[in-house]
Amino acid sequence: MTRIRQQNVTAAQWSSNGEALGALDLTQPENNAFGENVFSVAVQRQRLPADTFEKLQTTLANGDPLDPALADTVAEAMKEWALENGATHFTHMFQPLTGSTAEKHDSFFEPAGEGTVLAGFSGKELIQGEPDASSFPTGGVRATFEARGYTAWDPTSPAFILENPNGALLCIPTAFASWTGEALDGKIPLLRSMDALSRSAIKALRLLGDDESQGVFTTVGAEQEYFLIDEQYYFERPDLIATGRTLFGAKPPKGHELDDHYFGSIPERILACMMESELEMRKLGIPVKTRHNEVAPNQYEIAPVFENSNVGSDHQQLMMQVLESVARRYGLVCLLHEKPFAGVNGSGKHNNWSMGTDTGSNLLDPGDTPADNIHFLFFCAAVIQAVNKHQGLLRASVANIGQDHRLGANEAPPAIISIFLGGELEKVFEAVSTGEGDPNTPASFLDLGATVLPSLPMHGGDRNRTSPFAFTGNKFEFRALGSSMSLAFPNTVLNTIVAEAIDELAGRLEEKVSGGMSVPEAVIEVVKESYTANKRVCFGGDNYSEEWHAEAEQRGLKNLRTTPDALPEVLTEQTIAAFENYDVLSKRELESRYEVWLEQYALRANIEAEETFSIAQTMLLPAALRYLALLGEAGVSALEGEIRGLVDELIAALGELKTANAYPDDLEGLDLAMHVRDKQLAAMANVREAADKLEKVVADDLWPLPKYEEMLFIK
Ligand code: ADP
Ligand code: MG
Repeated sequence: MTRIRQQNVTAAQWSSNGEALGALDLTQPENNAFGENVFSVAVQRQRLPADTFEKLQTTLANGDPLDPALADTVAEAMKEWALENGATHFTHMFQPLTGSTAEKHDSFFEPAGEGTVLAGFSGKELIQGEPDASSFPTGGVRATFEARGYTAWDPTSPAFILENPNGALLCIPTAFASWTGEALDGKIPLLRSMDALSRSAIKALRLLGDDESQGVFTTVGAEQEYFLIDEQYYFERPDLIATGRTLFGAKPPKGHELDDHYFGSIPERILACMMESELEMRKLGIPVKTRHNEVAPNQYEIAPVFENSNVGSDHQQLMMQVLESVARRYGLVCLLHEKPFAGVNGSGKHNNWSMGTDTGSNLLDPGDTPADNIHFLFFCAAVIQAVNKHQGLLRASVANIGQDHRLGANEAPPAIISIFLGGELEKVFEAVSTGEGDPNTPASFLDLGATVLPSLPMHGGDRNRTSPFAFTGNKFEFRALGSSMSLAFPNTVLNTIVAEAIDELAGRLEEKVSGGMSVPEAVIEVVKESYTANKRVCFGGDNYSEEWHAEAEQRGLKNLRTTPDALPEVLTEQTIAAFENYDVLSKRELESRYEVWLEQYALRANIEAEETFSIAQTMLLPAALRYLALLGEAGVSALEGEIRGLVDELIAALGELKTANAYPDDLEGLDLAMHVRDKQLAAMANVREAADKLEKVVADDLWPLPKYEEMLFIK
């Protein structure tokens, strides 16, 4: 039996004292204003002198460098607006290579003599900041003695105000670079990759007969999964506090076998928390749309309407921050770890990705006319080619220690990157590549000489929940991201590799057209060649099955199960070539990322291993020993023998973990990561196994950690 511990805030309590907790009355229209805390285009139009506004918008639309003369005027207007909205401080927000968001606050106010202060904020302070960068990881790009790092205003991602009960903060999204101009963050490469894709796609569109579009932007909409658990249990779990996941915990009698949680009605306290989170997000201009229960108990999902990749990625970071902070107002803690509970579904983040022109057409939307379909087939073929060529890199782009419990560990999706096209689209590509229409494909055929192209009835196409990379009607859904991850790097990779593939296909298209083929004929030929060469990456079956693992190996697809297996893909020749050719990341910048990510893996594993040792040695073993003593006193020798056996097992496992934790100082880089994976994490697993067995038999009132049953079922 598990006692259900007292909660510090019950559902009934929060609704009566919701006001005291800071809950807002969401029925009031003034609390529902979208973007009210954003220095949006509308606010800029209102507050900037007309010519400054025009110039700024033109600069942004053309992607031109910013005229410093504009900055002072914009800074002045931004400051006035921020002060009126209660801000006292401003910060340059950036995303260092840790993957989280960084900020350093500066006050607007400066002493003006005679005990007075003056509010000031110059163009220079808007455009550039100089945080002490020595504490951010750089992977060797910048030695610590050259502590200089710069943040640079990103005018394409709107500034906003973050509220706090005791004031407000003006947040300015910025890029973060070393004094030598190397990218030390996630935003710079993402912006560079968006430019690269736009250039390649526009070139291809010209060949395809589009003379109108001036730019192509990539879009992202991410479905975020997360857990909400009662705050009290969180505070009683040092493992959750230190590592974000439970390092111990036996499987409860009730898991998600009953499937009674998914899309179930949302419990009242949870829904209230979601509503307030969404309100905060709307104020920040994050276009949240969908919410529902996920598969695991106490697991939920939230999804926004898609935006351009840069803004969408910034908003995703903010979304995670809001989810975490609002949860606390309801006595809840939001867990964004990829696998907080063993044996229970983990949390991912589906990255919906597409490309659109500035004239409003989605290049991955099949469309109604044969010409649209020709465009669609071309760009879709480019995605297939890119994913096939760079499967390893895509896998590496979603690697972190939390992910190792999901990808390659029998949870959605597998570590093998493949594409699900859906039955209809697969038929179309097969028809194009064989030159023969499938008699079962419905509707009209577009006759293109020897080749046939069926119509493309894609919307509402079939689904495959097990695929890591799926076509879903008018976009691709990269499903392998982890719940805690920034969108920046996976999207940087997607944009870059697709830009490269578009150029490759466009090159062949150009050859064929200058050889006398019509554009549609040439597209069909190019798509045929490309699909035939790359179709091994397409797979429509069950991605979890043993057969697929065997077949994928036969097809030559990579199966990179763990982070140390995947990360070397960041530095292969073809990765470096793709990133360098498109001016997205230099070899040095890639090397620095590789080093930082390896180091983070090892550091986090080490924290987990030390924490495992400490909890088992100082909390769990003593509980088991107390229970043993109790049994001894009562003279229950049968049970005593069983417990003693488990205690011995735990003590032996602890000995091995201690040895594994004391690794040689000279281990570093990939060697260290491998050691950590093969020795420390393996030894941790044995400690956990013994402890979890004890949890099931030791007296509940002696067991010091809240159990899965409590954490997962109290709502
Ligand atoms: P589905 O039914 O396939 O899940 P939805 O329309 O509900 O599709 O969208 C799921 C997610 O995909 C949302 O976050 C949405 O914003 C995003 N999305 C939709 N269209 C696009 C697009 N063109 N580019 C990027 N993301 C998109
Ligand atoms: Mg989902």
